[in-house]
Amino acid sequence: MNALMQDNALLISSLLEHAARHHPDVEIVSHLDMRTCVRTTWRKATLRAARLASALRTLGIQPGARVATLAWNTHRHLELYYAASGMGAVLHTVNPRLFPEQIGYIVNHAADELVFFDLGFAPLLEQVAPQLKSVKGFVAMCSRAELPALNLPGPLLCYEDLVADAEPLAEWPSLDENTASSLCYTSGTTGNPKGVLYSHRSTVLHSWAACAADGLQLCARDSVLLAVPMFHVNAWGIPYAAAMCGAKLVLPGPDLGGERLFNLMRDERCTFSLGVPTVWLGFFQHAEKLDAAARAGLCLERVVVGGSAAPRAIVEKFEHLFGAYVIQAWGMTETSPLATICNLLPRHDGIPLEERFDVQTRQGRAIFGVEIAVFDAEGRRLPADDHTPGELKVRGPWVVSAYYGQEPGAELDANGWFATGDVALIDKDGYVQITDRSKDVIKSGGEWISSIDLENLAVGHPKVKEAAVIGAYHSKWQERPLLIVVPNEGAEVTAAEILDFMQDRVARWWMPDDVVFVDELPHTATGKLLKTRLREQFQGHRLPTDAAVAD
Ligand code: AMP
Repeated sequence: MNALMQDNALLISSLLEHAARHHPDVEIVSHLDMRTCVRTTWRKATLRAARLASALRTLGIQPGARVATLAWNTHRHLELYYAASGMGAVLHTVNPRLFPEQIGYIVNHAADELVFFDLGFAPLLEQVAPQLKSVKGFVAMCSRAELPALNLPGPLLCYEDLVADAEPLAEWPSLDENTASSLCYTSGTTGNPKGVLYSHRSTVLHSWAACAADGLQLCARDSVLLAVPMFHVNAWGIPYAAAMCGAKLVLPGPDLGGERLFNLMRDERCTFSLGVPTVWLGFFQHAEKLDAAARAGLCLERVVVGGSAAPRAIVEKFEHLFGAYVIQAWGMTETSPLATICNLLPRHDGIPLEERFDVQTRQGRAIFGVEIAVFDAEGRRLPADDHTPGELKVRGPWVVSAYYGQEPGAELDANGWFATGDVALIDKDGYVQITDRSKDVIKSGGEWISSIDLENLAVGHPKVKEAAVIGAYHSKWQERPLLIVVPNEGAEVTAAEILDFMQDRVARWWMPDDVVFVDELPHTATGKLLKTRLREQFQGHRLPTDAAVAD
């Protein structure tokens, strides 16, 4: 028997219509560069998105066509999120930090028809454009007066002209909710990037998870500083979730420096922010120099840390300096990205702060909509006993089924699980602890050592800015941990000091066998440590503990 309930499709345009109807005057604050700030609202953004959607139609963009962006977090990028998907096209957010050849590869792979770009990316675009096979035109996200003369192999259009000259769509098309809405490529440390194609349905369901109390708790009372780029997994879905709940959005543009973020949080009364650990390390480099009176200028309540493991030092500093609660979240491009979120349970009521930090440094519990489990190499399901690490697999309606260009289901096993490539422990309450990427785990004499745990511990040292741990060859143990450290600017620090700091905090046999100092560490386009590069760099490294190779 079929139910007798209304069957409205879950569409991205309905999020925007809701925001315009119920939160029309809530602000969207957009910093285009250091000098130019545009203040708009959900109502105005809705109208401009409807104009832009009709301009896309006039430019010949058909349903299903791909529209690329090379853009920072600005109101124009937000309008495009809604205009392109809302009219039935697919928004392809390109990560400008990828190598030019990779950008060329993914634009061609996606067969993008238009490329929208911020002026700061014009030189990059000029470099890449000759490789692009499917692009019919380029749109500079600026006003007519700012339009530069560029050397591009196709027409150059002006964003503000398109918006001004178009009649707004009378209404958004009623699409099937399974229609593709946006496309993000994984940054991929090896091989070519792979495209994850989201749907209207997956996006709306994921937004609900962001707004849920045991999700990210995003709500109408929040002013959100979006310090995670809109070119990386749809800025963790916040541009959609903010419309769903009517939150204020503060879009910082290209500058994610610590001082800048602090000032925006203070000036825009931000209660909520999101970013990867590297962004927060920069934030504290500034915030720790300020006195208590200056720090009291923030009214930050919650900070989401994800993309890499949240070091305990970040969790502690947000609590101690700002009284702000760190919500660690884990996910990946393939999971839209929210999959596990670290919120507390009744049994944590009243626990000492130190114990609460222990909980917050885990990646959290599965939110409704995502099932998780760990498996061994033979595909057998492992217990959630907090002792048995295994590969984390996920399934659910906002988890990828196949990469762009593959047959549906191509990435799933017989039971519908997607293998994440992350190694994790799950405890009896369902809290996940990501211990490594499966290829980064250090295999020492048949036992596994978590490189992430050691890195987090090392960055807890006050003189350490960033740390990476890789497995270095050892003739007896196969691999032993090598700690690679970037000291804080101007800090004098020795290997012995760091090892002393670590030794009571970790099992003896996990202790790094050597420490080397470097000026900087290599990162991927999404800010993660590029361990393949480090492994190459330290391939012949001789550990002092290895008798067979010692002089
Ligand atoms: P991406 O697809 O670029 O978002 O990268 C996803 C990967 O980032 C995951 O598979 C994890 O390896 C890593 N990751 C994301 N969030 C966390 C987290 N909270 N802790 C540890 N690793 C994380």
